[in-house]
Amino acid sequence: MPELPEVETVKETLKNKIVGLSIQKVDVYYDKMMSKATSDRLVGQQIIDMNRLGKYIIFNLTDLDFISHLRMEGRYFIKADEPILKHEHIVFHLSNGQTLRYHDTRKFGTFDVREKHETYLVPPLSKLGLEPFQMDPMDFYHRLKKSKKPIKTALLDQTIVAGIGNIYADEILFASHVHPLRRADKVTKKEATWLIERGRGILESAIEAGGTTIRTYVSSLGVTGRFQLTLMVHQRLDEQCYICGDQIRKVVVGGRSSFYCDTCQKR
Ligand SMILES: [Zn+2]
Repeated sequence: MPELPEVETVKETLKNKIVGLSIQKVDVYYDKMMSKATSDRLVGQQIIDMNRLGKYIIFNLTDLDFISHLRMEGRYFIKADEPILKHEHIVFHLSNGQTLRYHDTRKFGTFDVREKHETYLVPPLSKLGLEPFQMDPMDFYHRLKKSKKPIKTALLDQTIVAGIGNIYADEILFASHVHPLRRADKVTKKEATWLIERGRGILESAIEAGGTTIRTYVSSLGVTGRFQLTLMVHQRLDEQCYICGDQIRKVVVGGRSSFYCDTCQKR
């Protein structure tokens, strides 16, 4: 699943390629993903700018904002006017003759069109918490105080803090020495500060890594936002902790596989 750094990379890549172009026609090949009424509203709109909040990509159009969430497998590709592939569900015909294609093998992606004045005032964006970049550590601490859920689950709750997914939640917890099963309301002020500050560092490094990787192969293969970052715990079950040498363990928290070091992370 794409997380904040991947979505940021996708947004930046698209921004460089499509801002200034107009949407001349929209073909929807999977009706449940976008209604005719919605796709009709996009026709004739110019793409003025692109933004992101949490894991949502926001296309700022002439009169409207178009909000896209990639969910599990959503991807964008920019192609010439060539045959449509099986998993390309929405095709935006652009004013330079190219097409922007939304590709999604799982079909979980979501789309919303909003009037500009309501974009941040109504769901889905109104429900999001701040990103770690804007979050004050003490505000975060007080938000955690209200939750009896495990801290891993709280980090994934987009209404508490936006943009953190399963991979980076594991990495941020490791960097902050906090066990994924610790109750959120038992996290100390010092740990809440670590979670936010180290979280920012991890996300920033990932954005930089994504930016460098994607520039090398994006133009013909499309925008996937996938890249490799050195992970300390995630998907490293039974491997040695880079800090203490103990084996990395796995526990399921709130239905999500969570990787951690029992020695480095306090319960
Ligand atoms: Zn360790």
